[in-house]
Amino acid sequence: MAEIVILGAGAGGTSVAHRLARRFAREVASGATRITVVDDAPHHLMQQGLLDVVFGSRPPRSVQRPRLATLPASVTVRTARVIRVERRESAVYLEDGTRLGYEILIIATGARIAPLELPGLVGPGWHTSVFDFYTLRGAVALNRALAGFSGGRFLIDIADFPIRNPAAPVSFACLADAYFRARGIREQVELCFLTPLPSAYPRTVAGATLDQVLAERGITLIPDFGAARVDGVGKTLISWTGREERFDLLAIVPPHLGAEFVRCSEGLGDPLGFVLTEPRTLRARGAANIFALGDATNLPTAKTATAARYAARVVAENIARVLAGDPHLAEYDGHGRCTVATGPDRAIALDYNYDVEPLPGEYPLPGIGPLQLLHESRWNAIARQTEPWFYWHVLLPGLDIPGMSARFSMAGKSGEIPNAPPGTPVALADASHPMETIL
Ligand SMILES: Cc1cc2nc3c(=O)[nH]c(=O)nc-3n(C[C@H](O)[C@H](O)[C@H](O)COP(=O)(O)OP(=O)(O)OC[C@H]3O[C@@H](n4cnc5c(N)ncnc54)[C@H](O)[C@@H]3O)c2cc1C
Repeated sequence: MAEIVILGAGAGGTSVAHRLARRFAREVASGATRITVVDDAPHHLMQQGLLDVVFGSRPPRSVQRPRLATLPASVTVRTARVIRVERRESAVYLEDGTRLGYEILIIATGARIAPLELPGLVGPGWHTSVFDFYTLRGAVALNRALAGFSGGRFLIDIADFPIRNPAAPVSFACLADAYFRARGIREQVELCFLTPLPSAYPRTVAGATLDQVLAERGITLIPDFGAARVDGVGKTLISWTGREERFDLLAIVPPHLGAEFVRCSEGLGDPLGFVLTEPRTLRARGAANIFALGDATNLPTAKTATAARYAARVVAENIARVLAGDPHLAEYDGHGRCTVATGPDRAIALDYNYDVEPLPGEYPLPGIGPLQLLHESRWNAIARQTEPWFYWHVLLPGLDIPGMSARFSMAGKSGEIPNAPPGTPVALADASHPMETIL
């Protein structure tokens, strides 16, 4: 029997499970192939709904579904924590003592916040005046705290990179601005956005656009601020250079790491626990039968659900090829897309890949859109509002949309920086920040 084991059933793992279940439906039904999915959480969390939970436009229950309801009925599901992959044995070890042998292994265990990596973060004030918004617990706690907040200094800080969806903190800042305006207390709130980078987003063109968006809303950008320590008693955030920023409320994106088992499994990951992955084939480096996708990888593209979705297509195709004895398809280009909420009814769309940073233009139809890239529009906001439906009904089931390619396209995009001397090409991603260390 061919054993296919998928570790992690988030956006990428679920999408690939559906694709494989369809592709190998006959083999699975006959017992010639078994697809096993392992995840340690009984519920699937749609992470991109967390900002709406913070600002009260979506109830917490709407961003979670029972894991089993999101996976194909034909796969075997195990709720357990993975603790080690033994490549020499082609086996995975689970915390409950189970050993799972595999012919093909897919690692999709995502990225996690590691609040303990920032001294003082989990200490006095944690979840009373200091919050994360990258977990459901943090988002719910912050929602309650915001309701009782009547004014003061509100810091939004990115502690370090890489993080999941680097555009999410900018959306957060804009939604916070809109939230305080709606409550009529915007004048009483000083909003500041702190980042270790020179601008709000880790790319030149998008960074300039999003810096401008923050400025227009009266949100102070504090760049080059590498958070070193939180003093929860004195309500101060301290940088590596000793700069101190006082706060009444702090919303922080803590440092991110990959799954612990990746660090503990010989030859699998980098020091942060991200799987060393071949960028085009999505094979784990040095292994013909192990694939990785989504946030779990060390790939130089933004860690987003859409990037995981496009990767799932290539992984499923390559698994079929490996089992048929055919060469791998080297087709993944790091394509990802997301929207930045700039208010309740405005948003900016981003579309990028490994080599091309988010540029202005229209998507998916050149000259038409309806999505406006790197430009605020109502259509973008409508697209953002449909994202939850799309997530549950298209992205997770691993469906393709006719006419919307998984591959990145320059059609409809301007390859030049706005306001730069004519002919200045900026199609390539910003080389001043090595992509591996930022995204
Ligand atoms: C606030 C926020 C906003 C976002 N906004 C957007 C957006 O607008 N658009 C977008 O495309 N993306 C967005 N993202 C990013 C997106 O959610 C992630 O990139 C996406 O979920 C990655 O999918 P994944 O399958 O790689 O990992 P995940 O979806 O995180 O799934 C990983 C799975 O692995 C499991 N797991 C981890 N370790 C183990 C272990 N040791 N044993 C067993 N199971 C394990 C976890 O339980 C989880 O189910 C946002 C994220 C956040 C936090």
